[in-house]
Amino acid sequence: ITDKIAALPPDSNYFSLEFFPPKTQQGFSNLHARLSRMAQALRPLFVNVTWGAGGSTSTKSLALAELTQRSLGLTTCLHLTCTNMSRRLIDEALEQAKALGVRNILALRGDPPRSEEYRDDSQAAAEEDDSNKDFTWAVDLVRYIRRQYGDYFCVGVAGYPEGHSDQSHPEHQSVEHDLPYLVEKTAAGADFIMTQLFYDVDAYQQYERTLREHESGVFKTIPIIPGLMPIQSYQILCRTTKLSHASLPADISSRLHAVKGDDEAVKRVGVDILSEMIGKMEKLPSPGPRGFHFYTLNLEKVVSQILERCDLIPSTPPIILAPPENGAQVEEA
Ligand code: FAD
Repeated sequence: ITDKIAALPPDSNYFSLEFFPPKTQQGFSNLHARLSRMAQALRPLFVNVTWGAGGSTSTKSLALAELTQRSLGLTTCLHLTCTNMSRRLIDEALEQAKALGVRNILALRGDPPRSEEYRDDSQAAAEEDDSNKDFTWAVDLVRYIRRQYGDYFCVGVAGYPEGHSDQSHPEHQSVEHDLPYLVEKTAAGADFIMTQLFYDVDAYQQYERTLREHESGVFKTIPIIPGLMPIQSYQILCRTTKLSHASLPADISSRLHAVKGDDEAVKRVGVDILSEMIGKMEKLPSPGPRGFHFYTLNLEKVVSQILERCDLIPSTPPIILAPPENGAQVEEA
């Protein structure tokens, strides 16, 4: 990913698209068709494949990474969490990623490590194989990847423009609290930072400035990729902002509140809002090309509209892609 970013003209833009592995075979076929279409039409610089906390989607995440990297030829970033799962699973995921030709890992903690008081007998039985002793924070995974694989993987880490919130320590939600640990993750070998979703561009701007000007100097040139979630519905917006502790600026909130009973209008206003956010961020100073990461929720229409509106689709010739195996028709929700 960082090689591809470095190859772009310094004043250009790029974007990435995030997908999660569907639960069913039919869902996979549908996503295959949609991904082929999106890759052809939108030409993202790379795509991300999420990982279920504790390894809950390990097989499906690797199958999706195989589809994006191998079958579709898309530069893929596989997310990997390190808590509440065995070291063996981490090793297998990294080995399989390597075998698939995946060169990028987003190194994450996942859910907070289980505390002793919540361990039951079955967990105790798995204790011997439990990586909790070795992996407590994302930085442990960054260090592990660097130790085991040197520079083979390009490693990304998560950043939180409005601070990270753990349910166990909500009082710690602040950029200042996270900063020393983000410095640690970056100094341990992270190549890029990808952020939590947000709607408050002023907060994001302040965050980026804080990082760029940080006395450690580790954030001077590292790509910082803002995470954006297109607005698919009023309910999803309320749920995701609550879960991620992202604030909704008053003007955005009132524009959406005014149309909340009309799903199509919410999407339309949402495209306006995201396009305005991107327009503002494009004007911010950046030491290199400016990226945007889209949490797509595996949906196509709204993100395509935003990319078109913002003129973010690169004009390079389309890449040749394998067609979906069963020619599945895709219905967009
Ligand atoms: P860390 O960097 O370890 O930080 C977690 C918290 O601990 C922070 O509050 C930090 O300040 C604090 N901290 C860090 N180090 C220390 C230390 N040494 N001492 C004390 N406190 C410390 N989750 C998934 O399960 N699957 C995914 O695919 C996924 N993708 C994501 C993608 C992005 C872009 C982002 C932003 C998040 C994603 N998450 C995903 C969520 C992530 O796993 C959670 O937010 C998790 O709670 C924290 O992960 P982290 O990597 O930021 O952890």
